[in-house]
Amino acid sequence: MDDWRLTGQEDWLKGVKLLFKPYQRYSATWDHDHCEFCYAKFSLRPGDLSEGYTTEDQYRWICSPCFNDFRESFGWIIVTETTEGSGC
Ligand SMILES: [Zn+2]
Repeated sequence: MDDWRLTGQEDWLKGVKLLFKPYQRYSATWDHDHCEFCYAKFSLRPGDLSEGYTTEDQYRWICSPCFNDFRESFGWIIVTETTEGSGC
């Protein structure tokens, strides 16, 4: 693969578990994140991405287009949350 978005992410993202979630800040002092691949911005502000794929610690975020482009080569495991049963 030869894509401008690839800068060695396979070192830390290959075969990891990902969850599809609304964006949440990693910490209170951290108001946005960027897609690991295309650098699209995730934040709680209008106009930025408000949901995407994240690692279990919610430290790394991947937008949907990049997820779809790279899912096969990275072999991600999609985790669906079933335990938080409080409902809405
Ligand atoms: Zn992206």
